Amino acid sequence: MGLKILITGGLGYIGAHVCAVLHQKGYRIVLMDNLSNSFLQMYHQLITLLGEQSLEFEKKDISRPDEVKELFRKHSDIKGVIHLAALKSVNQSIAQPLSYYHNNVGGLITLLSEVKSKNIPFLFSSSCTVYGQADQLPIKENTSLKPSFSPYGFTKQVGEQIIKDTAKANDSFKAMSLRYFNPIGAHPSSLIGEWPIGEPQNLVPYITQVGIGKRKELKIFGDTYDTTDGTCIRDYIHVMDLAEAHVLGLETLFSSNSNHYVYNVGLGKGVSVKEMVSRFEKVSERPIKYKISKARKGDVPIAYADASRIRHQLNWQPKYSINDALLSAWNWEKYLHSNNDHKE
Ligand code: NAD
Ligand code: UDP
Repeated sequence: MGLKILITGGLGYIGAHVCAVLHQKGYRIVLMDNLSNSFLQMYHQLITLLGEQSLEFEKKDISRPDEVKELFRKHSDIKGVIHLAALKSVNQSIAQPLSYYHNNVGGLITLLSEVKSKNIPFLFSSSCTVYGQADQLPIKENTSLKPSFSPYGFTKQVGEQIIKDTAKANDSFKAMSLRYFNPIGAHPSSLIGEWPIGEPQNLVPYITQVGIGKRKELKIFGDTYDTTDGTCIRDYIHVMDLAEAHVLGLETLFSSNSNHYVYNVGLGKGVSVKEMVSRFEKVSERPIKYKISKARKGDVPIAYADASRIRHQLNWQPKYSINDALLSAWNWEKYLHSNNDHKE
């Protein structure tokens, strides 16, 4: 029987895909989620994809010490933690900073207090947001971090620091922060994918909802940036390749002597918003109506990764192109539509 891994935030977008990849590699999985930004239906989708026996679900909150303790008491055989549970809206974090600090920083501390003395490897979802508008492109891990524009971004910087300090103080605590660039796309089965509650905040789910007719038009946030076509440039990466990076990260923590790592996870290719729209139109054969609206506060003009560290050190080899990812996102949107998704 495989090792048991806890995935916090496991019913969310990235968590569900990490779960699918871990299962494929033979791990046993406990998903913990408080359903604050996901549907219980995602659990049933995972069961359909992976089978009834493949995972256990605990509806619990990482910021509640009693619930975290109870979970580790019940699953005393957990051998690794992948920590994805967090609130993730930049705008919401500006309006409700305390909720973000409580959930993202408080939750992390609660979890670490439980894990640090148990010799359980710990993987943390960080973000390229920690770099702000980087002075150097492509962005390397040693590019200096910028003061964050939003409480959300700051929770990732503080989270990384807390993890680094905890690793420094406890030799037996092994940890890794993965700085995701822009995850997009869905599982090849189309049974799981990005399932936003209400109006999507991110580009690709917005585009697919315009494609299916659920939204009238995309608003492109600004076209006067100093980029090739005036729209922002990002590094989009297939969520399945990102999920693979988690498994490699976990396996590194199991076998290595060092106890703290940081990696960028991106394809290393900068693509503009307008280019994403035309790529989507090509793969889906649907026209996407858009209008240019004002720039979104806090958006940096350009971010793309130098991911050579993870490629060389962990032998991470992304398999999917941006167009593959867009097509999989489109197939998932069609799946949701044909299954009468009216959830808002
Ligand atoms: P998501 O919102 O889809 O998933 C997060 C899950 O965590 C949700 O299911 C939510 O219900 C759960 N959750 C939130 N607070 C919780 C709590 N206190 N206790 C238990 N569960 C809780 O988000 P995602 O896109 O899958 O992101 C996962 C992680 O990756 C987050 O930490 C996010 O900050 C980070 N990240 C995401 C992106 C991205 O573009 N999606 C980019 C960089 C980093
Ligand atoms: N974007 C946009 N319209 C939207 C959502 C996003 O023009 O409805 C742009 C956004 O300004 C950014 C890019 O798309 O330049 C990617 O945004 P997303 O929110 O997906 O990820 P971020 O890079 O902000 O983490």
